[in-house]
Amino acid sequence: MLLAIPNPALVLLIGPSGAGKSTFAAAHFKPTQIVSSDDLRALLTDDAGDQGASSEAFRLLSIIVSGRLARRLTTVIDATNLRAVDRRRYQQQATHNGLPTIAVAFDLPLATYRARNAARPERTVSAEVIEDHAARMQRVLEALHDEGYTAIHVIHD
Ligand code: GDP
Ligand code: MG
Repeated sequence: MLLAIPNPALVLLIGPSGAGKSTFAAAHFKPTQIVSSDDLRALLTDDAGDQGASSEAFRLLSIIVSGRLARRLTTVIDATNLRAVDRRRYQQQATHNGLPTIAVAFDLPLATYRARNAARPERTVSAEVIEDHAARMQRVLEALHDEGYTAIHVIHD
């Protein structure tokens, strides 16, 4: 897929577990441009799925994102970003530093999230969590156009 994303920019990936966010990020950006909540959990605990480390992981994520945006470096936030308060905070930081925020939202069938999660050997996300993510994603997609992004790309396949 060809996406025109300005450089520098804040790129907010938004999507359920299994949507393909990390795959997308790795295909389009340098490793140092990608700040991943799963990678930070793994750095803290050796287990990307260790939800007990989430608050620490997100504190680290926030520190790294702030540092990069202050340096006006393109930064990709690889997390579900399903909470509006989180998206708003990151976007405000980008704006404060004069960077546009580009939303890349994944809108795929629930069956795809399920299948891709099931195909991942290293991590198991429960069916309930995936369903909850998918339901929240539907509401995010309705709200996204009122959140003031510079551009929104919705990925359907
Ligand atoms: P994330 O949880 O949103 O970061 O999803 P990942 O990027 O880790 O992708 C989850 C699984 O789906 C991985 O096994 C990927 O290899 C696979 N995957 C990601 N994107 C695609 C895609 O576009 N097509 C197919 N067939 N599989 C994909
Ligand atoms: Mg991922």
